[in-house]
Amino acid sequence: MDIRNQRSWMYNRLAQGRKTLTDEFINGVNIFIETAKQLPSFISDGMFRCPCSKHKNQVHLRPDDIIVDLYRRGFMPQYWYWTSHGEYEPHFHSACGPSTSSQAQAYEGMTSSGSSFASPSQDPLYSQQISALQAELEQVRKAQTDWQVQIQAQIQMQMQVQQAQHNQLLDEMRKMKDQLSEKEVATGDDASTDSE
Ligand SMILES: [Zn+2]
Repeated sequence: MDIRNQRSWMYNRLAQGRKTLTDEFINGVNIFIETAKQLPSFISDGMFRCPCSKHKNQVHLRPDDIIVDLYRRGFMPQYWYWTSHGEYEPHFHSACGPSTSSQAQAYEGMTSSGSSFASPSQDPLYSQQISALQAELEQVRKAQTDWQVQIQAQIQMQMQVQQAQHNQLLDEMRKMKDQLSEKEVATGDDASTDSE
């Protein structure tokens, strides 16, 4: 049900003759006063904000004075949601439609906000453990990079050794080839000399 229909009494103060208050306005003001009396601030100092058209929630008064003000002047304009008296104005979602703002929800929000429940992230011991683990992880990472550097150096060394061995092998092969060709030339010469 739309709040403007539900609380139409708020702006239907005077009866036809404009001299007397309507019954629905008087009943509604009672409901409003009872609602506001549940506010923690009222419980502590016996006053709450006056939503009359003059004070517009800027002044704290006693309930009896507020009733008189509301009877005389009526509510300030557009005060459909009693946001100065413990209610939340609902937000509209395209998918879900208007969410309902119930009195219970509003007061539940008020009381739970004062709780001192500590979440794990706020626990000093827990955060100490986390920073210790982070330091350990950092060390492991550093060791890992050191290890990688060592491996790379070893690989490079291995490659250099292999290259040297390879060069040596090539050298030997070249020598052997030279020796062979010398021999060939020699035998060739020998052969030619033999044949002649
Ligand atoms: Zn007032």
